[in-house]
Amino acid sequence: DGTVEFHDVKFAYDRQRPILKGISFKVPAGKSVAIVGPSGAGKSTISRLLYRFYDVQDGAITIDGQDVRDVTQKSLRASIGMVPQDTVLFNDTIRYNIRYGRPTATKEEVEKAAEMAQIGDFIQSLPDGYDSMVGERGLKLSGGEKQRVAIARTILKAPPIQVLDEATSALDTATEQEIQQALDYVSEGRTTLVIAHRLSTVIGCDEIIVLRDGMIAERGTHTRLMSIE
Ligand code: ADP
Ligand code: ADP
Repeated sequence: DGTVEFHDVKFAYDRQRPILKGISFKVPAGKSVAIVGPSGAGKSTISRLLYRFYDVQDGAITIDGQDVRDVTQKSLRASIGMVPQDTVLFNDTIRYNIRYGRPTATKEEVEKAAEMAQIGDFIQSLPDGYDSMVGERGLKLSGGEKQRVAIARTILKAPPIQVLDEATSALDTATEQEIQQALDYVSEGRTTLVIAHRLSTVIGCDEIIVLRDGMIAERGTHTRLMSIE
């Protein structure tokens, strides 16, 4: 299980300006759907609604038929792994930040996840490289490195539903390719929602939805969408 459905979802941060204008789609359990489209189309809003950073104002989001508003936030978030665009880390070691994904994980599991996300070398560092108690300790993480911490966290968490919001956007091309393999591993057999800018980065997804101005402009397989582009 882990089927995610959006049923005619409408949402506005500010009542004057609708962001999502009636979005319906389904991610069958274990399948992957990509949402692509220009900046400002409302792509990230979709992931924020699923994780319940905000609630839908009209329509509904269900997981295995159950409205996400009827699930406790704790159990909802336990079933979803988020790799957000801007990862905000706890001011604690990278090890702590990864372990947060599954607090019961062993030391070896945490280290393996860190290695898969290629941050094994600085697992003892602090995100901003500074500890007021002990002074300098480690390095200041770049946006891409923070994103890799979020990826390691989700590798460890291994949730049934995975949301990857521009998960490789802050990474350079060489790292992106290697991290992509880790992400493929993460999404294998899981319900996966991928948010991306460009069609070229979501070739492997089962369905692609093109979002424009809060509406679904196009949907289909990668091959079909490439042929009409
Ligand atoms: P995308 O991910 O497609 O770039 P977003 O979902 O992030 O788009 O944003 C869609 C629109 O909603 C944008 O115009 C953005 O400025 C606006 N928006 C995003 N977050 C907020 C917020 N917290 N408050 C008000 N407007 C927001
Ligand atoms: P929990 O609900 O289990 O405490 P969080 O919601 O704090 O978990 O964090 C889960 C993931 O979502 C983390 O990767 C975190 O960086 C990310 N996250 C937390 N808050 C936000 C936010 N406001 N916007 C985007 N991502 C966030």
